[in-house]
Amino acid sequence: MLSNIRVVLVGTSHPGNIGSTARAMKTMGLSNLYLAEPRVEPDGQSIALAAGASDILRDVTIVDSLEAAIADCSLVIATSARSRTLDWPMLEPREAGEKLSVQATSGPVAIVFGRENHGLSNEELQKCNYHLAIPANPEYSSLNLAQAVQIICYETRVAHLALQNSGQEKQAEDYPLSEDLERFFVHLESTLSKTGFIIKNHPGQIMVKLRRLFTKAKVEAAEMNILRGILTSIDKKIDK
Ligand code: SAH
Repeated sequence: MLSNIRVVLVGTSHPGNIGSTARAMKTMGLSNLYLAEPRVEPDGQSIALAAGASDILRDVTIVDSLEAAIADCSLVIATSARSRTLDWPMLEPREAGEKLSVQATSGPVAIVFGRENHGLSNEELQKCNYHLAIPANPEYSSLNLAQAVQIICYETRVAHLALQNSGQEKQAEDYPLSEDLERFFVHLESTLSKTGFIIKNHPGQIMVKLRRLFTKAKVEAAEMNILRGILTSIDKKIDK
């Protein structure tokens, strides 16, 4: 189950942070590390800081975008030192640990961390189901990347152990995979462009607002299929 919980580092620029992340993960029983468009690859400094966790660096998956790193995930939580800039659904670290450990019983889930210098872009944040800000000192809220990873991995482990000890079966939600959700948004934009609701050269913020709407609604896979069917029926009428 913990192997279904993926730690994704986006655009990391310090090899030491990649090593320290591996160590933070392994101490909490996590092993699945993805680097999305890293500015550096793991090197000797990474291995030194990983200490006994260099196996995680050996098995690391390197991809060229956040989208590729989370495509097969049904729950994606983005972390940010800034809270509520986008008014997205928010989670506390503890709730995030619980959601990740329950949802991981059905397949891959991801927790995403941003660049050391400027975090995640708005576009990247908008590809995630929830945002999470560690409630740090408001006057100095930016943690070191690997230390932020440590806190979330710890909360995930605590939630995982509590789930195991309770002996209860908590049902994972039937959320669509990230790639299916992205396909839905592409389809929605295409249909709304065909109807003229979205004007090609002046799209404005409409897709961002619709993304937020459907993210807030926590659309399930079966519901998304209905929405896709509605769009297809509109496409057919227009194409006739
Ligand atoms: N100046 C950047 C901070 C980057 S710190 C910014 O404004 O976003 C590097 C990464 O560590 C962040 O992208 C986030 O993934 C994580 N991080 C640091 N502090 C955090 C906090 N208080 N809550 C959640 N994540 C945090």
